[in-house]
Amino acid sequence: MIKRRDILATLVAAMVGPAGLARATMPASTGKRRIPWRNWSGSQVCRPLQRVAPASVEDLQVLVAEARGTVRPVGAGHSFTALVPTDDTMVSLSRLSGVVDVDKDRLQATLWGGSRLGDIGRPLEAMGQAMVNMPDIDEQSLAGCLATATHGTGADIGCMSTFVTGMQLVNSRGDVVECDAQHNAELFQAAKVSLGALGIVTQVKVQNVAPYRLRREVVWHEFEALLDSAEAMADRHRNFEFFYLPFSGMGFTDVHDLTQDAIGATEKVDPNEGVMELKLARDWLEDYPWLRELILGSYMRTIADEVTVERSWKNYASERNVRFNEMEYHLPREHGLQALREVRETLEARYRAVFFPIEVRYTKGDDIWLSPFYGRDCISIAVHRYFDEDYTAYFKSIEPIFVKYGGRPHWGKINTLRANDLRKLYPRWHDFLTVRREMDPVGKFLNPYLAGLFR
Ligand SMILES: Cc1cc2nc3c(=O)[nH]c(=O)nc-3n(C[C@H](O)[C@H](O)[C@H](O)COP(=O)(O)OP(=O)(O)OC[C@H]3O[C@@H](n4cnc5c(N)ncnc54)[C@H](O)[C@@H]3O)c2cc1C
Repeated sequence: MIKRRDILATLVAAMVGPAGLARATMPASTGKRRIPWRNWSGSQVCRPLQRVAPASVEDLQVLVAEARGTVRPVGAGHSFTALVPTDDTMVSLSRLSGVVDVDKDRLQATLWGGSRLGDIGRPLEAMGQAMVNMPDIDEQSLAGCLATATHGTGADIGCMSTFVTGMQLVNSRGDVVECDAQHNAELFQAAKVSLGALGIVTQVKVQNVAPYRLRREVVWHEFEALLDSAEAMADRHRNFEFFYLPFSGMGFTDVHDLTQDAIGATEKVDPNEGVMELKLARDWLEDYPWLRELILGSYMRTIADEVTVERSWKNYASERNVRFNEMEYHLPREHGLQALREVRETLEARYRAVFFPIEVRYTKGDDIWLSPFYGRDCISIAVHRYFDEDYTAYFKSIEPIFVKYGGRPHWGKINTLRANDLRKLYPRWHDFLTVRREMDPVGKFLNPYLAGLFR
């Protein structure tokens, strides 16, 4: 069978000749370092004095109460910002994972905070429940994903924290504190998106729905046509997102809708393979943007649409094996597409080395104090750079576009905003600070980055 990457190579060789291919042999630096902890992309590193994974809430209480120095909870290490690093104590809830109990009548489940999202779907289904939505990977821990207001996509669906109906935390004194809309309601509004700055989240009660099946459809489009139909598609489909592929003039839409169809799938493009194809095109054709667009555009028009029908929890996430660094801002929906046009213009005018797609998603507004979706429906725009390449100049050029349109950064993704900028963007910022001081008067949970935000 002819591999898709061979088709691309043949197109390039035909139009450029073998000399142009020489650039593809440029070695990538591996960047190997001996380090005790690093995040997924390798952009955050630290050497904690101790790394602990308590086996019970009681053990955790003793640990936190007796800890000297900073204590930082860690999930799957999938955040790009300096939320986790500490030289003192790093706490993982990897041993506190799984379903605690379910309320069958209300379709609610209490889950351990250390549960990985990818491990929740199957047991929940066996108990007659499914999560309302999920992000585009399922590696994250539940508590870690909530801490940064992780979102999936869906114009009528809130971020993951909006599904939470109750939480249990261990504060800096080692006390267990429970909260929901009726009890400790202020803490609840702060804890649903907390950056891990209020305490260690041990249990989370989530509002679920009955198990459902999703039909996922991926379709390629001329990008200008895609932009024209994006808003209507966002309103029409349960989950709608799209990608722009730099220097191609092409994008694809990715939609999910409820279905009763039989489970099955057409042949799929492996997203990791797809990104590496874009990298090859960049390596070969960086100096010839018009040719890059001609070749990539012609190539992408040959890619068939994909349809996958699956159980909900198997049909949201993809494997992301090609590592990158990322900046994502959540913008008021009405400004999102204009901002996107400017991001594309800036990228293509100044950053020919960039090959990672731009990702665009929709999320419904909410009332959670530190949610970037607070008070408004949003379009989220994410830009990426290969983990081994310097993202600074590119992100520095794009970020002012997001800021100009009133964007709020994803808490887990690279941005340069500091306390002074952020407090203007969050009407309940000071309320959060008050709750934080009550939960942690001595600042045990503040590493330097969080101290800069909240002290
Ligand atoms: C490949 C990739 C794909 C991604 N896709 C998406 C996506 O589709 N949508 C999206 O919104 N984001 C996405 N993200 C970002 C990611 O969802 C967030 O950064 C998320 O917070 C990571 O969860 P984690 O379990 O890795 O937590 P970590 O990154 O380890 O920690 C994140 C925060 O949670 C805190 N925390 C962890 N455990 C606890 C606990 N038990 N109690 C209190 N605080 C805790 C940490 O202290 C920290 O502040 C993606 C990231 C990557 C690398």
